Amino acid sequence: MRQRLAAAALALLAATAAAQPLPTERIVPGGVALLPLGAGADKPRATLGDVPVLVTGDERGWTAVVGIALGAAPGAQAIVVNQGAQAPRRVSFQIQPHRYAEQRLKVAPGHVDLSPEALARHEREREHQKAVIATVSEPLPASMRFAPPVPGPRSSSFGLRRVFNGQARSPHSGMDIAAPTGTPLRAPAAGRVIDVGDYFFNGQTIWLDHGGGLLSMFCHLSRIGVKPGDVVAAGDELGAVGATGRVTGPHLHWSVSLNRAMVDPALFLPAEPAR
Ligand code: ZN
Repeated sequence: MRQRLAAAALALLAATAAAQPLPTERIVPGGVALLPLGAGADKPRATLGDVPVLVTGDERGWTAVVGIALGAAPGAQAIVVNQGAQAPRRVSFQIQPHRYAEQRLKVAPGHVDLSPEALARHEREREHQKAVIATVSEPLPASMRFAPPVPGPRSSSFGLRRVFNGQARSPHSGMDIAAPTGTPLRAPAAGRVIDVGDYFFNGQTIWLDHGGGLLSMFCHLSRIGVKPGDVVAAGDELGAVGATGRVTGPHLHWSVSLNRAMVDPALFLPAEPAR
């Protein structure tokens, strides 16, 4: 009897471990790979290239949650795992090809052909963003299932290959959610504000650190109501939707970065209700 109870308790524990709120897996450029790393008392440390990778779970089973860059080449890729006294091992995964659609946009000419001043400003801002996106902190996110930061129709615009005024530019690395200027922006999950600013392309922007190298970036805001260092809970108001920076109209641009790769925010949201 006692043995059967113990077995039942173990099965329950295993079920609990399996029910960790992880993002949806999609092993494509801009997607997320969930790589089982097995059990073990020592928490594994994993890296993709020289970038730390988020590892979640517990001694009954660890999982690496790997962000795949939009620019990643399809084919075999591997993380390197170090666990306790074991020799480092490679855990490989196969990135499937995915062809994102093309989008043609017209914007103010000054936001495509940059003046020397604008170009210099953009270069400075890009260096700054590189430092922000490298943030890795503890604790890990309690859940990798987010709530939409604003209500409204989500465009399926992540990954779009964009052509501005006839000129090819970098792909769209976030989700756009249509909402009027002034719509409150709410934290999709708990986090710490790590950067706010007014940037050339992104306009008024907030970066939120969810822990473990998982970050959110919100752009084109009309109002910023938080400052770096602020700790917020899921649902807390951060600011308001606007049309600052390079935009064609008011909307929220939301990017999710995991191990410095911009991945599809939809993988962290519940399925959108049919409309
Ligand atoms: Zn956008």
